[in-house]
Amino acid sequence: MVEEIWVFSEDIDLTQELLSKASEIASKLNYKTAAIILASSIENVSELFQYGADKIYTLEDERLEKIIPEVHADILVKMIDKYTPIAIIISSTKNGKDIASKIAARLKLGCVTECIDVDYDINMNVFKVKKTVYAGKAIATEIIKSKPAVITVPPRTFEAIKGEKREGEIVKISEIEIISPRIKIVEEREKEIRGVPLEEAEILVVGGRGFKRKEDFKMLEELAELLKGQVSCSRPISADLKWLPDWVGLSGHKVKPKLYIGFGVSGAVQHLAGIQGSKIIVAVNKDPEAPIFKAADYGIVGDLYEVLPALIRALRGRKSS
Ligand SMILES: Cc1cc2nc3c(=O)[nH]c(=O)nc-3n(C[C@H](O)[C@H](O)[C@H](O)COP(=O)(O)OP(=O)(O)OC[C@H]3O[C@@H](n4cnc5c(N)ncnc54)[C@H](O)[C@@H]3O)c2cc1C
Repeated sequence: MVEEIWVFSEDIDLTQELLSKASEIASKLNYKTAAIILASSIENVSELFQYGADKIYTLEDERLEKIIPEVHADILVKMIDKYTPIAIIISSTKNGKDIASKIAARLKLGCVTECIDVDYDINMNVFKVKKTVYAGKAIATEIIKSKPAVITVPPRTFEAIKGEKREGEIVKISEIEIISPRIKIVEEREKEIRGVPLEEAEILVVGGRGFKRKEDFKMLEELAELLKGQVSCSRPISADLKWLPDWVGLSGHKVKPKLYIGFGVSGAVQHLAGIQGSKIIVAVNKDPEAPIFKAADYGIVGDLYEVLPALIRALRGRKSS
């Protein structure tokens, strides 16, 4: 029997990213890659073959309209019991991490979350993963001795690579009993998102506690508009002052913009842990000793209340000329 590496995500783009990595590993080992699709309506999945899937397991049922980790984990546990894959790689979304931990606990499997790299060590015969530790200051390499291994990978860790058109096998699952969840969703409210999600922003302007008033964030919004970017903030601005809904950092959004500009952000390790994937980091801070300057590619030592309006004026001037 040929071993299979499975990937699962509630999001088709993330499924493509995971498949591309899984198929890179599978091809070295002559294993197969399979995507698992659990949904209320399943259409056009065969495109996943181009992202490296050899097989697609589908389970279509109206009860799967919403992701309920308890239910999805139960289905995956039953599928793992039946088809015995060598690993299941799940996207590190809120639901994905919930599902991964439930699977690992139920089947007593090794599980590593938030992996930034995944590989298979042929000599040791185990999956070998890397993840950042100590708020991004170090990278730990871990092996997972169980089979299957349960691994989660944050969105946009790997590139989705679309290859040539190719054929594969679609396995329709029908025999699995879907449990009734013990949790009932009583209300759902849409979260206010302006522009693209922070994780996808190419340009990010971020405000920290150097801002004295909420109204002053209007300047950041203007700069963001001129640069076609997004506004975000450090945790105290959001979690304590409630000036903005989301923050970047270890406990917030992990961002990878092409350009990050921080105004009045000190650069605490927890903040830096969420921005280290940025291509260029620019920091504006009036304290020359602020730790953010150590992480920055460009630094401006100055008062944000002078630098920010000056930047806006310069960009406005460039636009009108
Ligand atoms: C478990 C845990 C998780 C955390 N997760 C996160 C996280 O995800 N994201 C996050 O951001 N934080 C996080 N924190 C909080 C973090 O430790 C810092 O407290 C926070 O990042 C500081 O925010 P700040 O830089 O805006 O404020 P401060 O540290 O107070 O820095 C303000 C900076 O503004 C500068 N400044 C002041 N006035 C001006 C001015 N007029 N012009 C220019 N510069 C000026 C100051 O010199 C200073 O450097 C976490 C903390 C813990 C314990």
